[in-house]
This record gives sequence, C-alpha cells and structure tokens, in this order.
Amino acid sequence: MSLRIYGLLDCNNFFASCEKLFRPDLADKPVVVLSNNDGVVVARSPEAKQLGIAMGEAYFKIKRLAESGKIAVFSSNFSFYGDISNRIMQMLYRWVPLVEIYSIDEAFLEFTNLGLDSETITPLQQEIIVTIKKWTGIPVSLGLGPTMTLAKVANDIAKKGNGICNLMDKEYRNEILSRIEIGQVWGVGRRLAPKMVKLGIRTARDLAAIDPLWMRRELGILQEQLVRELNGEHCIDLNNAPSSRKSIQVSRSFHDTVDDFQTLAEAVATFAAQACEQARSDGTVASGIYVHLNTSRYKESYLSEGKAQGFDRATAHSPTVIRTALELLKDLFRQGTPYKKATVILLNLKDNAVTKSQGILFDMDNKTPEEHEQEERLMESVDYINRTMGKGKLFFCSQGMKQYWRGASEHRSPGYTTHWNELPVVKAK
Ligand SMILES: [Mg+2]
Repeated sequence: MSLRIYGLLDCNNFFASCEKLFRPDLADKPVVVLSNNDGVVVARSPEAKQLGIAMGEAYFKIKRLAESGKIAVFSSNFSFYGDISNRIMQMLYRWVPLVEIYSIDEAFLEFTNLGLDSETITPLQQEIIVTIKKWTGIPVSLGLGPTMTLAKVANDIAKKGNGICNLMDKEYRNEILSRIEIGQVWGVGRRLAPKMVKLGIRTARDLAAIDPLWMRRELGILQEQLVRELNGEHCIDLNNAPSSRKSIQVSRSFHDTVDDFQTLAEAVATFAAQACEQARSDGTVASGIYVHLNTSRYKESYLSEGKAQGFDRATAHSPTVIRTALELLKDLFRQGTPYKKATVILLNLKDNAVTKSQGILFDMDNKTPEEHEQEERLMESVDYINRTMGKGKLFFCSQGMKQYWRGASEHRSPGYTTHWNELPVVKAK
C-alpha cells in the first residue's frame, strides 16, 4: 500500500477576505460580514477578531462600532463569494490532479503518487499558498496528513500559524494531537463530544490511543474509522466524508456523462432535496447554496465550475432551495458539455431555533411568520412520511421520475415499489 498524502486547503476568513479584495482602503481595518437578514456576524477579518467580536454575535450589539466607522460591515454576497471561490478552486489543478471541493472555501487535494518527499513537500505547500494569495488576493492555509482527518487537523494548526502544517511525521503528529480538544476533531461535533468526554477521551491524542474495535462496539463504525484515521490509517474517502459543521454537501459522479439539461436538473434537484433533508434532521437552516459541475478529470478539456447564491432568509425548505439550485444550474449549464459530476452544497448552516428567534423582523422574503410556519410543517410531514414509509417515498416533481443520471448498470435491483419506471411488469399469456 503506497502512502497517501492528503491536503486540506481552506481560505482564511473567507467572506471577510473577499470583501477586502476591491477595497484597499480596508486592508488593515476590521471587517465583518453579516448573515442574510443582517442578523448576526458570519465572518470576521483578523482585525475584527482582535476587537473581540464573536462569531454569531448579533448585529445590534456591534451597531455602534459600525456607525462610528470603527468596523466595516457587509451583508453576505454569496454570488460574489462563489465567483472568487471558483477562481481559487480552478487554480488548484495546477499542482494536483485530484481536487474535491468540500465547501465554498475548502477543498481536499490529493498529493499521493506525485513523487514528493520530505524535502520537496514543504516548498510545494509554500508555493501553493503564496501563489493563490498573489493571484486572487485571498489568504489561504494548507494542512497535510496521511488521511483526510489528519489533513483537517493540520489545517487548523496551519491557520493559527504561518499558513502551512505537515502531519506526515508520526511523532510530531502525536504532539499536535495532544493539544487538540476532542470537540475540535472533524466528525466529532457537538452531539458526540460529551459522550467521548464521558469515556475519558478529552483530546485527539486520547481518541487515537483507543482500541478501534472497542470504539466500534461502544459508539459505532464511524467512530472506529475516526480512531484509525487519526493513526494515519486511511478509511475515509471524499465520497463518505462527514459533513463539515458549517455546510452540507451532496454530490455524485454519474455513471455515464450527462449532457442534457433536464437530466442534470433532476440530479441537482435530488441533491438539493437530500441536503435539505439532512439539514432539517440536524435542526439547521442554510444561508445560501453552491452548485458545482465538472466534466471528467481524465479528459483533456476539463471543466469545473460553480456558482453560489444567498437566500433571502436562511432556510431548509426544499422547494425554495431546489428553485434556487435550478436557477444556478441554468447559469452554469453549457450546451453540449459531457458533465460527469454535480455537487450541491448548503452554505453557512445555522441553528434553526436561533434563526427563528432573530429573523422575523428582518426577513426579506416577504412571507409572513404564518407562511414560514406552514412551510416548516409541510417539510416535517414530508420527512415523517419518508422516515416511516421508506426513503424517497415523497419527492419533488423536479427530481424527476426517470433519473437517468443514476445510470443503468449499477448492480442494484429495480426499485419495484419506489420508482414509477421500475414497477414490476406482469405479462399475461
Ligand atoms: Mg475558511
């Protein structure tokens, strides 16, 4: 087994960094970006962090600072951030053949089999972050490790330091892991962290020292994988990566390439619906959506493009999200292009309960609280039916009935009872 090398590239304070791009007068000034309804802070420049402005701080609390000109305040501009993100993601292929976009400002890169060694890897890391900063103006950090989980840890360290970190070395890795609190580990999250602490696992190092099989019995197979990943044993691929806490991603490579709009639209609508379902089950709502398309990376004219859009109100309402996803798709779609993969990412997730308590006065979507309530109840019913009667029982028309993008030759038995075009056919003689 050849040693794998993964990288996680993350844009620093992404939205705030974007806002500074065309405003040289703000270069060293504190900048904050607010959620859709200008309710709370969703991004802060380093200077704003130094002022003690917290993530999620309500705008009215810092309004005085804004009005007196001490900080610059912006409303989220997702289509702008999506465009900048796209430029950065495009650049990554200069250095690595495998890039997986993970959120609007994060991508995993694979450096395996590129002939790198301990001598050449650091200069390459350096080159990547310096070039991106020079060409796009956005500061980024790049962490490396033998697994995706360790690359993510490395990125957290890189961000706090000089922008790069390499956890390929085992001894150094263990030292770093002992400084990482368990709740900070990718995939642990708010719900799992207290359970781990109860088991006496307080740091990433503690978790790495657990017997993986014991972990499987105690908390399940995903946690077993986490233990192995922290020990440098590769288990997680991009296709089964846990969602980041601030976004939900659903994507799929098509069996055959897809070049007609309708089929692509059905796929994108399906991914959007799945992402919404996940958000609702997590109790979160999204501030915006990012849709990304790419052709086969093994073909010459490789194309990889994405676009983002904010919602007027943070939401997990499938029809609203699907509608926006399809509008973005219309913008992105190029006739005659053999698309191989589509990705839908819900951006900047927030706690639904918190959003509701803040939102009502500032909503820009012209709906009454009663209408929001109705939308939510409708989604609850859809989720209930799908949970109790089987996945995908109720779906949205735009997801389509035929779903050609799924391809025919996967070794899947027909959806005898769930797909109109796969109903068993009875032939009478
Ligand atoms: Mg970031």
